[in-house]
Amino acid sequence: MNKIAEAVVIGGGVIGCSIAYYLAKKGAKVIVIEKKEGLCFGASGANQGGSFVSLFKSPVLELVQESLKLYKDLSEEIGYDIEYQNTGSLLCSIKEEQYPDMEKHAQNLRRSGVNARLIEGNEMRELEPGLAADVIVGIEERESSLLNPFKLNYGLAHAARKLGAEFFLSTEVKKIEINKGAITSVVTDRGKIKTNFVVNAAGAWSPEIGEMLGLTIPVKPRRGQVIVTEPVPLNKRWRYICDADYLTTAFDAEAVKKSKDPRIKLGVAGGYAQENTGNWTIGTSRDFAGYNNQITMPTVKYLAKRAIKFMPKLKDVNCIRMFAGLRPFCYVDGLPILSEVDNPAGFVIATGHAGEGITLAPITGKLISELITENRTSIPIDAFSFSRFKNMN
Ligand SMILES: Cc1cc2nc3c(=O)[nH]c(=O)nc-3n(C[C@H](O)[C@H](O)[C@H](O)COP(=O)(O)OP(=O)(O)OC[C@H]3O[C@@H](n4cnc5c(N)ncnc54)[C@H](O)[C@@H]3O)c2cc1C
Repeated sequence: MNKIAEAVVIGGGVIGCSIAYYLAKKGAKVIVIEKKEGLCFGASGANQGGSFVSLFKSPVLELVQESLKLYKDLSEEIGYDIEYQNTGSLLCSIKEEQYPDMEKHAQNLRRSGVNARLIEGNEMRELEPGLAADVIVGIEERESSLLNPFKLNYGLAHAARKLGAEFFLSTEVKKIEINKGAITSVVTDRGKIKTNFVVNAAGAWSPEIGEMLGLTIPVKPRRGQVIVTEPVPLNKRWRYICDADYLTTAFDAEAVKKSKDPRIKLGVAGGYAQENTGNWTIGTSRDFAGYNNQITMPTVKYLAKRAIKFMPKLKDVNCIRMFAGLRPFCYVDGLPILSEVDNPAGFVIATGHAGEGITLAPITGKLISELITENRTSIPIDAFSFSRFKNMN
């Protein structure tokens, strides 16, 4: 392979494919390089496919809100049904002491423009009879959504291809060449591509790509495990439910470190999504196990026990499979990295999406395509700049 492209995207997950699609839509000649034999082999093929608006706060919340606007018409736009459904969500708690925090959280969400309302136990159970009697308070909102992550990944790739993007699978990036402080080419195990822009969308493997240029990208794999159940009748009101402990396990590393609870130590807090088919995905956990993407029984047991605490009816439902995936997690501040670096010119990083990569895929693609083709972005991304790690580089 000896090729020329305006931009080479490394990684065939949802982030790489979204960037390829939005770049191709702007008329750029794009090549995507994926080391595995298919797309969707990383975290993009091992997740719950949800966008749970009320988990976030600024600056990620603004990106989430922009991404959801893009999602509304995405299936139609790309000519591929990603099974997007606007389900709304319920964030809820079984701990009396979390009530004031939940009240405050709902207020903060409303201040940020999320139409969230606090709702008490009995009203919740009237709307959703399957909820446990122990669930005392919740936050309901109507913007959250579920989709099929495989279809999202393949749909974006399909649309990018139709617009002229080329994909090379089973192809690994080995080296990035520069001349006078600017990118000139990408060397793969199947040949070379001349280009002035390289996008590092290699997810949990993005630090390896950074190392090729002597850059430290502070991302490491944060494993998550999920149980999938057999199909059961659809919940009446909420098919996307999170346990308020999720706010701790996902976003409060200090509290996790201090906790003496073995469940919290394994990063287990409930995130429950019921697909159209009736299957529940029961997530999820957060731990650091290097590149090990196997499930582990202690974690799976905690996941199952926790789920039954919120929805006792799941007790008699069979589990049909389990999976684990590796989130690309920025261990400095947990925020995504969406940025061109100062040196070498033309090296763009789009990673660190942690547990939000599905949610943020469309807005990431749009913003990175703007950065490359217009050298500006339609919304500010300074909070996600690589320059925040300047003392590491
Ligand atoms: C259990 C779990 C549940 C989740 N649930 C949700 C959810 O409900 N909602 C949500 O928004 N997010 C969720 N996420 C997070 C989401 O899955 C990720 O943030 C997202 O998939 C990251 O996408 P990516 O394209 O950056 O990385 P990946 O999908 O991992 O893709 C990176 C790709 O780069 C390729 N690559 C690496 N090195 C090279 C190289 N040298 N050359 C060529 N290719 C290379 C890899 O093979 C891989 O295919 C979840 C994650 C997990 C693990």
